[in-house]
Amino acid sequence: EVRVRFAPSPTGPLHIGGVRTALYNYLFARKMGGKFLLRIEDTDQTRFVPGAEEYIRESLEWLGITPDESPWNPGAVGPYRQSERKPDYMQYALDLVKKGHAYYAFDTSEELEAMRERLTAARVVQPQYNSITRTQMKNSLTLSEEEVKERLASGDPYVIRVKIPRKEEVRLNDMIRGWVMVQSSTLDDKVLMKSDGMPTYHLANIVDDHLMGITHVIRGEEWLPSAPLHVLLYKFFGWEDTMPEFAHLPLLLKPDGNGKLSKRDGDKLGFPVFPLNWENKENGETAAGFREQGYFSDAFLNFLAFLGWNPGDEREIFSLKELIEAFSIERIGKAGTKFDISKAKWYNEQYLRQKSNAELAQYVVSDAALEEVTILPETAEAIVALMKDRVVFTSEIWEGCKFVVISPTEFDQGVASKRWNSDAVTVLTAYAEMLEAFKGTDFDADTAKTMLGEAAEAKEIKLGKVMQAVRLAVTGVGAGPDLMQIFAILGAEEVAKRIRFALA
Ligand code: GLU
Repeated sequence: EVRVRFAPSPTGPLHIGGVRTALYNYLFARKMGGKFLLRIEDTDQTRFVPGAEEYIRESLEWLGITPDESPWNPGAVGPYRQSERKPDYMQYALDLVKKGHAYYAFDTSEELEAMRERLTAARVVQPQYNSITRTQMKNSLTLSEEEVKERLASGDPYVIRVKIPRKEEVRLNDMIRGWVMVQSSTLDDKVLMKSDGMPTYHLANIVDDHLMGITHVIRGEEWLPSAPLHVLLYKFFGWEDTMPEFAHLPLLLKPDGNGKLSKRDGDKLGFPVFPLNWENKENGETAAGFREQGYFSDAFLNFLAFLGWNPGDEREIFSLKELIEAFSIERIGKAGTKFDISKAKWYNEQYLRQKSNAELAQYVVSDAALEEVTILPETAEAIVALMKDRVVFTSEIWEGCKFVVISPTEFDQGVASKRWNSDAVTVLTAYAEMLEAFKGTDFDADTAKTMLGEAAEAKEIKLGKVMQAVRLAVTGVGAGPDLMQIFAILGAEEVAKRIRFALA
């Protein structure tokens, strides 16, 4: 059975790249009929941010990609928070020590600093604790067995480091990138257990993936450099047979393609890079979210899926169900994907147009209610019909058409100064008279238009010349959706009343 996991660290709001990782894991699990797990990697207590875990949960729920097993919905292989698994990690580190693949190191931070300085002075580009330098440091490979025992017994602080072989080619076949080969001499003896008794990411991640039966590790490209170490760890533990397959997802790039997309890019260019609004209660840091900016979750999800993947044909609109059917890791690109907010807007527009008028009318009703305006559902639906093809976000429907229910008391002066003239006054006066005399019950857009045409013709004034003034008189602004449709919604009496007000 396929088992994949999303393993975020609760160090802040979930970035859009993280949400994409979660989505691809979800799609792959569903496609393969497997399970999608969520594991909270919170072993680094210093970077823990309150609220981050809830944020992750809410983001996934908003998108409808809820994990099958998680801290909130545990399966058989829990706990699903690494901090709660803490007692288990030490034995695995000790197992590696026993097998000769890891060792105790007692170096103080001053000694480590001195080593780095020495190497830097000798022009070593990346000073490392490795097969060469470990011979000069205080660890169980250089100290006598007695001394090591004594130090451990007297409670000296120590870490446990992995012993990277001096010369070995480490290979892995990444599902996206193909064969990756690395010389072990370029890797360093990473810490597995910290002096506070907490495992590092590397140890906890490998142990948990193994214990949780993970078959595929799908994660961001920033973890590719760690993958050779992970492969070695599987080997050292003797877990090669069940080692998961790796798929490292391409980076999300800044809109200009220059480097990794960051929170600052969003702030600078005015678009969100997080799914939901975020507020760090401790330091006041905030971030804008797609949800609160008015994106539909299904549109955002569709946009997200295409940040690095495509179905191989021209289709672009996919529901979650359709994404599951079409998804394959093979169709994820190797190259980084440029983040393009106009594409996100395009998706929202497409999804908005697919929604029924009745559904969209509910947004209008609640947006109006926020301004303490009550609007009848049928009026809201009529407004939707007018605005649907002109907007990206539902909020723009009410925003762009509120004059239908709130008659204007002010008029756009810029438009007025250009368009309000004696011809306009003449036509409007004539039109108002005709409207007041109108006794029919069928005042539709055609009728409104015919009557306006007749009013202009009677005064021998070209309708085109006064049209914007007519709009201004009735709506207060110079542009908007089809004016005659608006008149039909308002009714002859209301249009006449507004014209009289504007003329007064
Ligand atoms: N905790 C890591 C992160 O925050 C997980 C990386 C992985 O998936 O192995 O991204």
